[in-house]
Amino acid sequence: PLVLGIETSCDETGVGLVRGHTLLADTVASSVEEHARFGGVVPEVASRAHLEAMTPTVESALRKAGLRFSDIDAVAVTAGPGLAGALLVGVAAAKAYALGLGVPLYGVNHLAAHVAVDQLEHGPLPKPSIAMLVSGGHSSLLLVPDVAKDVISLGSTVDDAAGEAFDKVARVLGLPFPGGPHIDRAAVEGSGTAIGFPRGKYDDGTLDFSFSGLKTAVARWVEAKQRAGEPVPLADVAASFQEAVVDVLTRKALQACRAYDVQDLLIGGGVAANSRLRSLAKERCEAAGVRLRVPRPGLCTDNGAMIAALGAELVASGATASRLDIPADSSMPVTSVHV
Ligand code: ATP
Ligand code: MG
Ligand code: FE
Repeated sequence: PLVLGIETSCDETGVGLVRGHTLLADTVASSVEEHARFGGVVPEVASRAHLEAMTPTVESALRKAGLRFSDIDAVAVTAGPGLAGALLVGVAAAKAYALGLGVPLYGVNHLAAHVAVDQLEHGPLPKPSIAMLVSGGHSSLLLVPDVAKDVISLGSTVDDAAGEAFDKVARVLGLPFPGGPHIDRAAVEGSGTAIGFPRGKYDDGTLDFSFSGLKTAVARWVEAKQRAGEPVPLADVAASFQEAVVDVLTRKALQACRAYDVQDLLIGGGVAANSRLRSLAKERCEAAGVRLRVPRPGLCTDNGAMIAALGAELVASGATASRLDIPADSSMPVTSVHV
């Protein structure tokens, strides 16, 4: 069955077309440039941009795949979590498409979709897998017995998300929003061991994270340099900050694999696009005998393919379709895969 996926939880209007584990189209229209001057996503601006981009993005995805509306067998949409007004646009559009085409609707969880998307690239997800979800709004460790049915939360951040820390530190360094990719690039010229920034909750035995202390430490360090009239070594600060984040992330991910005796680790979400996270995870997983799966960077950040991928998984597992009156749920917990 051909599944149309619609994603509007934040500032990306994403439309994907998926059949089974095969990706047929993945089209993203982003309003990120409209938010850049505010240093963060402005919900009202995002909602308006989704409204304008929705129809053209769906049509462009169909065109790219050489398919027609009548080929669609099911519609999947992000029901949550995310910005309420932004989610509403996608959910309303998905209901209209499902009703108009006479096909089932699946309201899915954005976070579970960040996990399911990997199947488009690397095939069926081993059951169970450990998944680490690191994005702009979330940092969680999950035990995933079956991504279509059962996702268990093992730990999460007690303060900032990893992506949020990247974005805030980028702002301190005068880099544009969203800062993650800029820090990634700046860090290439620097040393990850130049400055010893603190690693929150490193040895506390839990599977939780904390990044706000690190963010503050970087801001203090930069302020001290500026006060002393000394130049701020941008590349070294970026690399050392990034090293502190990915050191903790990879350490806790492998700790989760050990604790639950699982040999398959998946990393997803926007921060999984980070080059140093990818290389350190590879190194540490090899040493620990854990198989690592990370989707290509374009599938790590928000997109419609991930929603279609989870929708296709639900269809394949015989899940019950959603009612046409489902609400958008801005705080949908990761443990509810669909509504
Ligand atoms: P959520 O999925 O939690 O609702 P979101 O949808 O905003 O949040 P994503 O699009 O999955 O998040 O990820 C965006 C985040 O990923 C931003 O914080 C961004 O800075 C970060 N990011 C993207 N690329 C990189 C990179 N190369 N290195 C580090 N961080 C990155
Ligand atoms: Mg985004
Ligand atoms: Fe996301």
